[in-house]
Amino acid sequence: MASLPVPRVAGPEPWPTLSPVERGALRELLVHGPKSRAEIARELGMSRASLTRVTRTLVDLGFVTEGAMELRGATGRPSELLHARPDARSFLGVKLTGERLFAVVTDLTANVLASHDEPLVSRGVADIVEQIGGVHDRLGAAHPDITAAGICLAGDLNTSGGRQIVVDSPFLGWHDVELADVARKRLALPVATENDVRSLTAAEHWFGVGAGFDSMALLTVGAGIGLGFVVDGKVVTGAHGKSGRLDHLIIDPTGPRCSYGHRGCASTYLPNGSIVAALRTPGLDYEAVVALARGGDHAAMQVFREAGHALGVLVATIANTLDPENIVITGDGLAVTELAGDEIEAAIEMNRHPASAPITLDIQPFEFVEWARAGAVLAIRACLQF
Ligand SMILES: [Zn+2]
Repeated sequence: MASLPVPRVAGPEPWPTLSPVERGALRELLVHGPKSRAEIARELGMSRASLTRVTRTLVDLGFVTEGAMELRGATGRPSELLHARPDARSFLGVKLTGERLFAVVTDLTANVLASHDEPLVSRGVADIVEQIGGVHDRLGAAHPDITAAGICLAGDLNTSGGRQIVVDSPFLGWHDVELADVARKRLALPVATENDVRSLTAAEHWFGVGAGFDSMALLTVGAGIGLGFVVDGKVVTGAHGKSGRLDHLIIDPTGPRCSYGHRGCASTYLPNGSIVAALRTPGLDYEAVVALARGGDHAAMQVFREAGHALGVLVATIANTLDPENIVITGDGLAVTELAGDEIEAAIEMNRHPASAPITLDIQPFEFVEWARAGAVLAIRACLQF
């Protein structure tokens, strides 16, 4: 009796093993956009002949396509441009807060193809991983080529002995959780985990305003104050996964107390919740305080001026410490940059080193979906072993 053929359940094609130069060439195209072979060869310090072999592999694997001829460089000769193929693979990005799960699917160039969010059913690791698995199953039905996943969350995350660890996540109440490992087993995909602000910094460094910079800083203002750095082209994690903590820098030692007992640290002025608390008017939320300040309410304007002063001190401190090519300010608390521009500028001038280079500030409008997109970028970067 002939047996019926067993239908093979097709999973996504796994990410292939690429050589360091293949990864380097693909990264050049992802970060900098279309380039000629000569330009990529120069950037990677390779001969044209070696690079031709590399790009042929990338074309055969479907990661790169040859595009139109364009006049490039000083020779004026037309060159064929290579493009990364956005549709080569899809990636799942997840951002966890204490209450919700936000997810996106992106293509290889970090364009968002689908998004979804839902409340967490619990804060248990197994429950949340199962929930991420359910979201992956649903989004994966329309995007069966999801190749890797990245999960970002607030807190201390680190890699130790090749193991990715959530060392401490106050919002979820997690300590020493191997989230990546548990999620990898449920999703049957490679999974990367990282602090959310560092993930956002990495996303801006590859696919945003910091694309191609050797150094940058990203400051988020909103529910808290986050800070990510890129130095020598690498996102800085710190020895213990705790880099970028300036949220309790003392701004005014006679100021209000924070939950740690500091007087007048940045966290008492700048986060949205501190702006609301400083107004001492019951029943108002952040949007209402912003509306009051925009309408010229003196007390609300004063609260934003103090927040702007704190922001300026932070910016000057970052510039004095790192001398980055640019400083990006983003997050859902950007109203301070609109309402207290003069105070920010004055505090930068007062606190920056007199010999420091001019500071390039880049204020980037923000949507919450960008956290989850940053998770997908984490997955893309992990595939390229970056
Ligand atoms: Zn403090």
